[in-house]
Amino acid sequence: MKSAVPRALRNARRIFPRASSTRSSSLSSLPRLGNNRLSGTTTLTSQHRNFSATTGLRDIDEDKDRKWSTPLAKQLAAAIELTGPIPLASFMRMCLTSDIGGYYTGAIEKDRDQFGLKGDFVTSPEISQVFGELIGVWFLTEWLAQGRQSQGVELIEVGPGRGTLMDDVLRTIQSFPAIANSIDAIYMVEASPELRMAQKNLLCGEDAPMTESKVGYHSVCKYNALPIVWTETIKSIPIAPQKMPFIVAHEFFDALPIHAFELVSVPASTSEAPSSTDNSSPSNKITTPTLQWREMLVSPTPPGSTHESLKTPATQSRETPPPDFQLTRATSSTRHSLYLPESSPRFRALKSTVGPGALLEVCPDASLYASDFAARIGGSPQHPKPKPSGAALILDYGPGDGTIPTNSLRGIRKHRRVSPFAEPGLTDLSVDVDFAGIAESATRASEGVEVHGPVAQGVFLELMGIRERAEVLAKRAGKEEKGRAVEKAWRRLVDRGPGGMGKVYQALAILPENGGRRRPVGFGGEVVQ
Ligand code: SAH
Repeated sequence: MKSAVPRALRNARRIFPRASSTRSSSLSSLPRLGNNRLSGTTTLTSQHRNFSATTGLRDIDEDKDRKWSTPLAKQLAAAIELTGPIPLASFMRMCLTSDIGGYYTGAIEKDRDQFGLKGDFVTSPEISQVFGELIGVWFLTEWLAQGRQSQGVELIEVGPGRGTLMDDVLRTIQSFPAIANSIDAIYMVEASPELRMAQKNLLCGEDAPMTESKVGYHSVCKYNALPIVWTETIKSIPIAPQKMPFIVAHEFFDALPIHAFELVSVPASTSEAPSSTDNSSPSNKITTPTLQWREMLVSPTPPGSTHESLKTPATQSRETPPPDFQLTRATSSTRHSLYLPESSPRFRALKSTVGPGALLEVCPDASLYASDFAARIGGSPQHPKPKPSGAALILDYGPGDGTIPTNSLRGIRKHRRVSPFAEPGLTDLSVDVDFAGIAESATRASEGVEVHGPVAQGVFLELMGIRERAEVLAKRAGKEEKGRAVEKAWRRLVDRGPGGMGKVYQALAILPENGGRRRPVGFGGEVVQ
């Protein structure tokens, strides 16, 4: 039976019988813009393109007494001294998740985490409980539409932060015993030991023990005593053909490291000629300029640099110490510049559609995760699955129109935009997500999946019934401040004005292939019961 979404979701009481308190009230005083992670982008080109790429191997004595802004900066500088400038992806990976003081792996002060007023940014699940509840409902609608499998359902979240989203999803799903009882296990992919503990405390209780195995860390959830397993990468989660995985990634892909490239015109005399046994043969000489990709690399700024000398853009706060590092353009091909820009027809087309000066960001980890999701849902040559099942929901920011992100690296600290090269490890780094790239990777990895979206978060949440659900919550919270805070919070999530979260964040779904016959709820489809 099919029914229109709003009607199916109208009976909010049925779907959410146990509403919890109004989380939004504590956040309502935050300024609207500038405290989510998307408050503008770094323009790398104008500031950084002019630097030559010769600053990698530097005079060691010159740097001996240099004060680096963080221990990680010192380590990075030492590594660069040995190897030469490093790819942006290596820099990002070290800054975000390295053992020696990455942003998510121990660098920030003990008494705070990344989220909320005291942290660096705020995310949708932390703004309103309705966000996670509606994702729980979305999983429910997929479970219903795909035949109500009675066992083998898995919930997988990548990058779960404080665990708030999973808590809201589970609380919602608990109201539906049939799906709640079909869940075998919950998997959380988390790089941060501190956040892993915070998630365990929220989902299992502070006293619940956590044990370690070869796979990861284990505890038992307060909902239905479900086993929860924490792993550091999705590869550690077993794949089995009878499982029905429901996967969510909220603000995870934007934290994955990117490689950045610029297309340059190389004069004939310096073009890299194809190898030949007879170089003297005239037919092998390159006589016209060629277009080649050059990778953007990270190297230390000159000693004694200031924000003024580095021309830190006005959009970035100068309250941090001057950036320790800068982007430089490689003078010749690198391993990555030879193959990553060739890895997709969308990237290859830039040579003719844009030409010299074209910029390109490529996120190999995003392809790996998207391919993994697709293989779990639709099967793959390595993991055949007779009947595709499950779903993945990816919510993040990035172009919704298929354009490839450029210049999107940004640094965020205490709700301010800062240089992404200042205070490595203390500064959050994020980039725009290439949704079209994720769609391409998913459909390439598995013939058993199809992709829907991206659609703007505002559209997705409205179709999911955020208005109806929030009205119930607001009524319960009363007319005073609390009620107004609930109202303000949900409106912020769907705001489609310039820079609004409802517009800049997108939702994309990976589903079992069905020839596009059934669209998922939130993407224009209807609830199938
Ligand atoms: N989804 C949460 C948190 C977003 S922040 C929310 O919306 O509130 C990004 C999350 O991804 C954090 O939990 C961080 O520790 C985790 N993370 C970042 N990079 C990761 C990586 N490479 N592997 C696993 N987890 C990662």
